[in-house]
Amino acid sequence: MELWFSELHADSVKLSIRVDRQVASINSDYQRIDIFDSEQFGRFLTLDGYMMLTEKDEFIYHEMITHVPMAVHPSIKNVLVIGGGDGGAVRELLKYDSVENVDLVEIDGEVIDACKKYMPFTAGRLDDERVNIYVEDGIRYIRNKRDTYDLIIVDSTDPFGPGEGLFTREFYGNCQRALKEDGILVNQHESPFYDNDREACKRMHRHISEGFRISKVFQAHIPTYPSGHWLFGFASKKYHPIKDIREDEWNKLGIKTKYYTTKLHKGAFYLPKYVEELLKDVEKE
Ligand code: SAM
Repeated sequence: MELWFSELHADSVKLSIRVDRQVASINSDYQRIDIFDSEQFGRFLTLDGYMMLTEKDEFIYHEMITHVPMAVHPSIKNVLVIGGGDGGAVRELLKYDSVENVDLVEIDGEVIDACKKYMPFTAGRLDDERVNIYVEDGIRYIRNKRDTYDLIIVDSTDPFGPGEGLFTREFYGNCQRALKEDGILVNQHESPFYDNDREACKRMHRHISEGFRISKVFQAHIPTYPSGHWLFGFASKKYHPIKDIREDEWNKLGIKTKYYTTKLHKGAFYLPKYVEELLKDVEKE
């Protein structure tokens, strides 16, 4: 008998992965958490049936959501990660000695527990002394924060369920206030490819651009996400992601990566024409 995990990527398109075994299945207060083992993608985590990460390709997402801002801002010390209970973004941030504090705000403590138990390749650094974990709603957490963080990473689920409020104008406005004057906001920005994702992608970019002088989108190739073509947002009141990249300084740090390079960093902001057109009404500079 064969067991397959399938996820609809569009009404008539799905990705299926053959499962060797189901490792865990948990119904939390917020969502259904499943962990599977597979031959091709290794261990993988799904929430409510949506792919979050696989052992084989998570490095792409987690490197791009962290190293892009880290190579631009000259001194990131205090970081907020919203979502990200798998610990992958935290793992990448802790590669920098200069990072003094990481606040991780994850709504679902059971995601954190399951990842600590079953996914040490991402969650292995969550107990580091520089990390403070808050099990609460990121939307509420950020409301009264002012001028606090050098970097905010929104490593959320998709714009429905508990993650829905992490894509609103109000939330991005609160992020802007929680950032220091030269802070950077990076968020997972969905895919521009399928019709059902395209509008969400555009709306998100419009909302972010309203609150930040510089608001850009960059891309990566992530095989297990819808269409494999994924976007991230980069927003800042001060830094431009290409003009202000500190290429030599970053390379001298000797940070080990498998996907991110400073060359790729610059290339990632040059978007395909259909994506440029999708975003041009709302894009700045
Ligand atoms: N890389 C993933 C992706 O794009 O598919 C995201 C992974 S991470 C596991 C997303 C996390 O965001 C989930 O664990 C979820 O519980 C958390 N989350 C969703 N809504 C949230 C909220 N309002 N506040 C804090 N965390 C939230």
